[in-house]
Amino acid sequence: MDEKCQKCLQMAYSEVLSQVTKLNRHSKPVFAQISLWKLIDKTIGDALAETGATIACKAGCSYCCYLKVDVHASEAILISEFVKSKLPEETKKLIIKRAEENWKLIEPMNEVQHMTTNLPCPFLVDGICSIYSVRPGACRNFHSADVQICKDFFNNPKNLNDNRIIAQETYQRSSLVIQGGIQAFKKCEYDIHAYDINAAFLEAINNKHIANRWSDKKNALSKNARSKSDHLDK
Ligand code: SF4
Repeated sequence: MDEKCQKCLQMAYSEVLSQVTKLNRHSKPVFAQISLWKLIDKTIGDALAETGATIACKAGCSYCCYLKVDVHASEAILISEFVKSKLPEETKKLIIKRAEENWKLIEPMNEVQHMTTNLPCPFLVDGICSIYSVRPGACRNFHSADVQICKDFFNNPKNLNDNRIIAQETYQRSSLVIQGGIQAFKKCEYDIHAYDINAAFLEAINNKHIANRWSDKKNALSKNARSKSDHLDK
């Protein structure tokens, strides 16, 4: 790992650790997740400026919003709070309905089946991310160097081999920021399992105890909601 990457990992670890230890149970340690999101965004902006890489992503382009997305419980909690407090009732109902429909299809799938099936993210409303300011780290970190590759992958989701979709160096640094943040949550014993975005959101919005469970350092969401890519207990 080069020096810059090492710095990204260390910076995120220190920042999240300091936030999460400062915020006690009543001041919502889950807000440390917001600091992590900000660091991811900043790292991507800085890396693009420094490397001169350009990305093809722009508002209204949503090919990647049909891919498998995993979230952490802290993200699902913040997303459900945003949906409850900021989105119109009609949009909230639509999102819940679509998450339920998706989860019915996803639950019996294995990891590869899920990764090779296009399913519209429940938060994609009229071609736009309806939760953009609180979108998960996985979405923040996914940026394309070439929209044609996104189109091709969208039209042929069974082809998992093409990694040119990502601006590599930028992705490497921001992935390490995510890793550093997760390590800090882990150090403080918060739930860091990976959950399916649909199942996690449904549990978080339907169960008012989830946020307290997370703050109490319990596994906040059910085992059933875990992503097939979550291998923490194995
Ligand atoms: S959360 Fe937003 S950015 Fe992420 S897949 Fe869903 S619609 Fe797209």
